[in-house]
Amino acid sequence: MPLDNLQELAHERLCTRCRGRIFASVGHSYTNIQRGEFIEFSLKSFGYEPSTIPENECEICGGLFSQLQNYSEEIVHRLEGYEFNTFLVGTTLSRDILEKETGIQTRYGGKGESLKKEVNRELGKIISLRTGKEFDNADPDIMVKIDVNYMSIDLQIKSLFVYGVYRKFRRDVPQTRWIKYSEIKDTVESIIGEEAMKMAGGTNYFLHGAGREDVDVRMLGNGREFVIEVAQPKIRGIELDVLEERINSSGKGVEVKDLALVKKPEIVRIKDERYVKKYRALLENTEGGPVDVARLKSAIGKLNGKVIYQRTPLRVSTSRSDLVRQRMIKDVFLESEDPPVIIIEAEAGTYIKELVSGDGGRTKPSLSDLAGQRIQIRELDVIEIER
Ligand SMILES: [Zn+2]
Repeated sequence: MPLDNLQELAHERLCTRCRGRIFASVGHSYTNIQRGEFIEFSLKSFGYEPSTIPENECEICGGLFSQLQNYSEEIVHRLEGYEFNTFLVGTTLSRDILEKETGIQTRYGGKGESLKKEVNRELGKIISLRTGKEFDNADPDIMVKIDVNYMSIDLQIKSLFVYGVYRKFRRDVPQTRWIKYSEIKDTVESIIGEEAMKMAGGTNYFLHGAGREDVDVRMLGNGREFVIEVAQPKIRGIELDVLEERINSSGKGVEVKDLALVKKPEIVRIKDERYVKKYRALLENTEGGPVDVARLKSAIGKLNGKVIYQRTPLRVSTSRSDLVRQRMIKDVFLESEDPPVIIIEAEAGTYIKELVSGDGGRTKPSLSDLAGQRIQIRELDVIEIER
């Protein structure tokens, strides 16, 4: 470093700690205060008298470190009542401080660390000491956010995620709380979510399903995977067998099993699954009269193993983009002639009602086309999801 710079460094209006932080990457076993003391010693040794600035007059930290005990007291107080194992601290500083800091760090070779980093670390140490909880950079249960500009503290509580498999035995329960179903009280989401939220002491809940069935379709067999997310939980270690028992004994027509605490990426995993599904469909002739079983059998034979083309059905076209999709109908067979019931095994994303009705020509071929008769589904069940 040129000697001019040493003179300049001696006159920066910085406290010892902030002078030391400019060289934080030099000498790993020292604190920034120790580094600052070495620098001040060296400056004196070379005949430069460093200006001694008390922390609360320092141009960078402005005495922030002396306030950390107060911050930590308030933070620990706010954390009371939350069950957690890990936390992280994030500090927001004023733009003014950040600009000054960047200027100074650049002037002396960019060997420093940021004030923000040191504040986060020091505050983390104090909170860790007072709560016995661990600092975690990757996936903390609670993120403590401090904004120095407003002296505000905000806790971001990580949601609780519970995986499970559900079955639905009713034809009047939508999967999630959509606006269009607002007059309907029960949803799969509310039946599972209300109990989970109560047990975890959370503030809200969201169901993430591995696909969805229509409101009037029962979900039977081995059930559908889901993750229920509870927002801002106070309790993380909920007893899952108790939760399962409460949902299953509620008499609301939804049952769950295989509950497990999981991490957030599990949502992406189940949403990306493209399982083959098996359905049972009770058919009817829309023109009145019975379904012609001979024609139905012939149509089933032609549909078996066939790829069909489905344009997005009109009934869902407001919420999904209008596309033509190819779907493989892996297996179709007649389970019963009277009443006419068929079993269909199809690729994920096949619109089964439209496969039967033809949806005004938007699905080709359809069972109705192949049978030369207008057929539709009266009752539909998902009977197996092949996992
Ligand atoms: Zn300072």
